[in-house]
Order: sequence, then C-alpha cells, then structure tokens
Amino acid sequence: MTTTYDFLIVGGGMVADAAAKAIRETGSTASIGILGDEPTAPFPRPALSKKLWTDPDFTTDDGEPGTADETGAHITLDTRVISVDPDAHEVTTESGETFGYGSLLIATGGHPRRLDGLEPSDRVLYYRTLSDYRRLRELVSTDPKPHVAVVGGGYIGSEIAAAMIGQGCRVTLLHPDDVLGASTFPPALALDHEALFTGAGVEVRGGTRVAGGLEAGDGVQLRLTDSDGGDAGTLEADVVVLGLGIQPSGEPIADAVERSEDGGVVVDERLATSAADVYAAGDVAEYPDKILGRRRVEHVDNAETMGATAGRIMTGSDETYDHTPMFYSDLFGHGYEAVGTLDASLETVEDRFDDSVVAYYLTDDEVVGVLLWDCDGGLDEATALLAAHTRPADAAELVGRIRPAGGADDE
Ligand SMILES: Cc1cc2nc3c(=O)[nH]c(=O)nc-3n(C[C@H](O)[C@H](O)[C@H](O)COP(=O)(O)OP(=O)(O)OC[C@H]3O[C@@H](n4cnc5c(N)ncnc54)[C@H](O)[C@@H]3O)c2cc1C
Repeated sequence: MTTTYDFLIVGGGMVADAAAKAIRETGSTASIGILGDEPTAPFPRPALSKKLWTDPDFTTDDGEPGTADETGAHITLDTRVISVDPDAHEVTTESGETFGYGSLLIATGGHPRRLDGLEPSDRVLYYRTLSDYRRLRELVSTDPKPHVAVVGGGYIGSEIAAAMIGQGCRVTLLHPDDVLGASTFPPALALDHEALFTGAGVEVRGGTRVAGGLEAGDGVQLRLTDSDGGDAGTLEADVVVLGLGIQPSGEPIADAVERSEDGGVVVDERLATSAADVYAAGDVAEYPDKILGRRRVEHVDNAETMGATAGRIMTGSDETYDHTPMFYSDLFGHGYEAVGTLDASLETVEDRFDDSVVAYYLTDDEVVGVLLWDCDGGLDEATALLAAHTRPADAAELVGRIRPAGGADDE
C-alpha cells in the first residue's frame, strides 16, 4: 500500500524543518510527510559542535525545533529513500515501501567524507548527527578524560577540538596545512586563529595527514604521514573525531534529475529540478546564486532560507531564491561571519581594528569574499561589495571600506 502526501520531503534535516514550517505559514493545510534515514527528528546541527558543549544549561531538548508539533508533518524515521520515480510521483525506500507525492522536496544534505584505510569503530566518529553528539558525550564522560584526536582543520574539526578541550580532554588536532586555518584565513589571522588553540592547550599538529588506522586495545591507533606522504609515525588516541567535509547526498534521485559534477542536484532560481514537481534545497542543491553564481552551499543560513523558500514555492508562491547566504563559526568566545569565497590562495587584504579584523578576498576582476572576525555588523556592506563585481586596482584601497559597528579604529 502506498501512503501519499501532498508535500513529501526526503531527508529529515534542517531544510525539512524550515520547509514544513514555511508551508504551514502560508496557511496551507495540505498533508506533509518527511522521510529521514536518521533515528532522530530534525535538529539544528550548529549546536552539535557549539552550544551543547559551551553552554552547560543548554540541552538537546532546548535545541529541538519541534518540526512535527508545529506543522503536523508526519515524520518517518530510520527510513532511507533509494529511488524516485517522477513519472509515477512516487519514491521507494530501502525496505521496499513506496510513498506518493503531489510535490517532492529533495533535502538529503550531505554525508561526511570517509577516510579510506581507517577501520570502522565505535570510537571513530565522522561527526554530523545528533547520534554522533550523544556518542561523543558518552565517550568523553569518563574519568580520567580521554585523549581525543581530531582529524581535519575545517570548521567541524576546529569547533570539536575547542569543545573537547573545554571538556577537559587531552586533544590532538591533526591537519594538513602549515598553520591551522591557513587555507581559509589570511596569514596573520591564521596565526592568531591557531594561537587560540595552542593557548587553550590543544596540541596542533600541522602538515599531518592520517593514512589509516585501526582499533588497538581500548583506543585507536592512527597511521600518520607528512605533507609529502612520508611516514610520520603513529598516534594512539581513545577517541577519533573526523571533520573532512561532506559529499552531497544526491543518490536517491540520481537517475531522475540533472546532477551537478560533484553529485549534488541542479536546481533553477525557483529551486525546481529538471523533473516536474521535484524541488531540491540545502546542502544538496546546486543553485544559481544571484551574486556569486552557480554553487552549492553547505551552511545553515542557506539551508534555512532556501528550505523556507522551497516550502512557499511548493505551495504556489511565484518567488525566486534571491538570498546570498552568510556563514559563521564560533571558537573560544570569538566568532566570524562571512560571505562568498574564503580561499587564502587568492589575493587577500586584512584590515585590523581594535578587536576586529575584516578580510577581503580578491580575484583579478573582483572582490569574491569578505570575512568579518569578531565584528559587529558589516554583513550587508560585505554582500553589497560582492554584488558590485568589481575591485580597486590597488587592493589596499579596501582598507577602511567596511568598519565594525561602534566606530572601532584601524590599528
Ligand atoms: C556539527 C555541525 C555544525 C555546523 N555548524 C554550522 C555553523 O556554525 N554555521 C553554518 O553556517 N553551518 C553549520 N553547519 C552546516 C549546517 O548544519 C548544514 O548546512 C545544514 O544542516 C544543511 O541542512 P540540510 O537539510 O541540507 O542537510 P541536513 O541537515 O544534513 O539534513 C539532511 C538529512 O537527510 C538525510 N538523508 C540523506 N539521504 C537520505 C535518503 N536517501 N533518505 C532519507 N534521508 C536521507 C540525512 O541523514 C539527514 O538527516 C554545521 C553542520 C554540522 C554537521
């Protein structure tokens, strides 16, 4: 027997929550179904690496967005969709069940990149879900505290390393760059960023990759190489957390719609895929950003805003997705917001104020990214700067262009 929903959402994450709420906010009373392969309902992922560790009063109950209660959506957990048939308006799950739809939203996000050669273990976490948070909480609640090896210097690795040192664990952070954050932040800011970690007691091992590993005794032994691939010995840890980026989870819709080169799902400015009545949003969706051009964005502002837009479009709104998303991270009481491309191999300008830094990233033709470190405000100006699609001949002329609110002075 096939259960049919007016609106069916595949993937029970942040997009699903935003889309279901937006559908209801239009006044629609149509039926909403959400099929998610996790054992838990939608949960705001940023809290998994930040607030749940840094705020002792904040619990998973506080983070719970109440998707089903607020929208009446029927959420089916532990259910993996393996194919979509747009002609029949039907999806099929791993267990062979079928669900029909009027309109379908692909909201499958991405899954963590795995490390070949690292044997699976319940002490090795590719950190992404509420279940991962619960498992890590369990692993670090021992006395004495465990030695946690964190692999990857991106925002998941950095935030988890900061969280683990805050829990009193011994933490070793393994990353391939010379300086932690050097591929994202301009040179001086990368040094400041790394100093936050070393100052807090994290052992930061740059120029290091993990080639593999296996369970050994009550822990895990990692095999390390240096940046040239040469043997760099082994590291024993009680727990290993990996943040190696994600790959878009476009598989269930693989044969039915146009895919992006990296496996995402291509949508137009109305978030429609190439199949009738099938939309996609969030980490999985490659969309035409009005300012930045075609891209996939793996950040929460995009997931929430695009998810809500998709929900309204599915109920008949004639809008387009015109939002250029920002992204952010919080570390040791510091934080940044950013828009566009943060690639430190581009030309960069660092503008330092009393307590803040504004960093600009430029190609030969235009400013393509702005990072606001410990800055109050500045995001609208940053977005407008990117929208102008130009740059000064001398990049140094950008100094003073965006200033933190409150009139801080240039250093
Ligand atoms: C620990 C962590 C911290 C983060 N912090 C920040 C931050 O500080 N700032 C920021 O901007 N962004 C942050 N992000 C990124 C942000 O959370 C994501 O961009 C957002 O969750 C994307 O939403 P989504 O709905 O597209 O994907 P998800 O929230 O990942 O939801 C997708 C869901 O679909 C499920 N699914 C996949 N395939 C199938 C299938 N075939 N069938 C059924 N279900 C399926 C997945 O299991 C998952 O539950 C963070 C992410 C993580 C993991």
